[in-house]
Amino acid sequence: MLTIIENARNSGRKYLNEIESKQLLKEAGVPTTDTRLATSRAEAVALAREIGFPVVLKIVSPDIIHKSDIGGVKLGLADRAAVGMAYDEILAAARAKQPGSRIDGVSVQNMAKPGVEVIIGMSKDSQFGPVLMFGVGGVLVELLKDVAFRIVPITQRDAGKMIQEIKSLPLLEGYRGSEPANIRALEDILLKISAFVANTPEIKEMDINPVFARRDDAIAVDARIMLE
Ligand code: ADP
Ligand code: MG
Repeated sequence: MLTIIENARNSGRKYLNEIESKQLLKEAGVPTTDTRLATSRAEAVALAREIGFPVVLKIVSPDIIHKSDIGGVKLGLADRAAVGMAYDEILAAARAKQPGSRIDGVSVQNMAKPGVEVIIGMSKDSQFGPVLMFGVGGVLVELLKDVAFRIVPITQRDAGKMIQEIKSLPLLEGYRGSEPANIRALEDILLKISAFVANTPEIKEMDINPVFARRDDAIAVDARIMLE
């Protein structure tokens, strides 16, 4: 189960990339977009055909934390030509904006149906140990600071309360005609992350941003895990 963590540790790495992080989440029972690594343009195109269009391509680099800031995320790629072009553009952008970055390749994943973007995080407090965070996601996280915290492990009731606590709750309840999100699905992810981090002390920090909170379900489209 934890070969991903062992492999990273054996190679002296503290950060798991998006692909590794999502593999761990999947093992924890958290829905994620199926994400694979391409190390050439041809491989990116082949993976896109396997996954099915439209797809998303993203830079995979231990040195690039905010991928979209450097032009490292290309959304809604509808055909082979678009994927090939996006592959080249992402590598060129990474080299131009952050020269000298180590680049593992480019990830390929399906373009997920949109939802309300929320963040689920975990960090460790020196006194309380693992603490879960839930809040409004995407680029608004730092701007709004609309988040709720609970000490791990949480109960279903705690998960529900965390969600009810944020000021932006109306966004999840269907604000001005937008679709309400499935709160149960979010609670379920919070519970699964809680159980997972309680059982996996090797994990120091987790940042799942965003999770798309949709009418029928919720799915993690970006994830980053840091090891102790
Ligand atoms: P960053 O490293 O900049 O946080 P993300 O992987 O979070 O990069 O991608 C940036 C944004 O692109 C996300 O907030 C989300 O809106 C969108 N996005 C990312 N992955 C997907 C996906 N698989 N399907 C649809 N939208 C996505
Ligand atoms: Mg992100």
